[in-house]
Order: sequence, then C-alpha cells, then structure tokens
Amino acid sequence: MSHNQLILALSVFAMVGCGNTEINSVQSPSNQSAPTAEESGPESMTQDDKKPWRSDPVLAGRFHPEYPDDLQAIVHDGGPRFTDKPAELIWVTVVGKHGKAYRGKILNQPHGVESVQQGDEIFFLAVAAAEHPFQVSDKYLTERDDWVIKPCSKCGFADLFDAPSDLVKKVFPNVGKNPNEEMEAFTSFCPMCGGVQVIHKPRFEGE
Ligand SMILES: [Zn+2]
Repeated sequence: MSHNQLILALSVFAMVGCGNTEINSVQSPSNQSAPTAEESGPESMTQDDKKPWRSDPVLAGRFHPEYPDDLQAIVHDGGPRFTDKPAELIWVTVVGKHGKAYRGKILNQPHGVESVQQGDEIFFLAVAAAEHPFQVSDKYLTERDDWVIKPCSKCGFADLFDAPSDLVKKVFPNVGKNPNEEMEAFTSFCPMCGGVQVIHKPRFEGE
C-alpha cells in the first residue's frame, strides 16, 4: 500500500462523538460571590486599555451590570466523547488575555463538572458563532489553527471542546501508529447541540 493510498483510506469520514451536551445550571447573578477588587477603584481610560475585553464587540452586553469584568462562560470536562457530564454555564471574572483567548477566574463552584473548581483560572474563547463564551485548553488553542472546523450543521458552532489530536486518538486509536498515517478529515458531534461538524486539514479541501 502506498503512502497516498493510506492517506486516502484514512480520509473516509467517520462519526465521532455520541450525544448532546445540555447547557444547564444557569445561575443568577445574585449567586455571585464578593465583588472583585477592581470594582472599588474609579474607572479611567487607562483602566479600559488594560482590559481589552470590555471593548470586545463579541463580549458586548455579556458583562454583569454591577461587575463589568464578570460574565457567564461554559465550563466542561470535554466534549461528548470524553464525558457524559453536561457542560455548565458559570460566572467568571475576566482577568487577562492569552493569545486569542481570555483568562477568567471561576466565581461559583460547578455542580457536575469536575475538571475545574471555584477560584480556578480558565482560558475561554468568545466567538460570534457561539451563544456563550466557552472554556478551551492551551492544547486546543495550540492545535486549533492546524484544522478547519466547518460550522455545526444545526447551530453553526465552529469549535470543539477537545483538542483535535485527543479526539482523533480517542476515536481512532489505531491512527498514527504508522508514521505515514495521518488523519485528514473526520466528523464530530457538536459539543453545543449534537449537530454534525466536519473537521479537516486545510489541504484536504478540494482534493
Ligand atoms: Zn451545534
């Protein structure tokens, strides 16, 4: 079998994932813990420059009226391939940037999600195609640009909860054992709604 044949054989779309993720546990702002330190000080232009999230159009309207750095974001233990636990919408205080993502500190203890705790710092992405900002890993951010993630067939979400390499390893455990083998394209169930996402390497398009 030639190298090309191997790539072709692995390019056959295969279904990844197995179900829906319900976003639950929406908590009211009144559950909020103590206000963050910044709120006591006066606002100024300098303050705003240091807090680019306050002027990010994707985040506009998401901040708590009394706590202008606090918003709700989705935390999770991974997509449907990695956990049965539903993702949760939870209040976080935005504390900084990390590449394309923001850094946020979790204000409430999640009910079911186990990978993060109250007080933990997470990375999250805010994109126009998602109803809420959502937690991402550093690994996901590193790998994200190596793939094209087509928008979900149902909700338009064009990201994943899991790093693509972890997803491939989990669903296709035999891929990658041969150094000539590489996953070119696969489909996955959307972690937001259970719709279908097509994920492929940029070069795969049009072949
Ligand atoms: Zn979806």
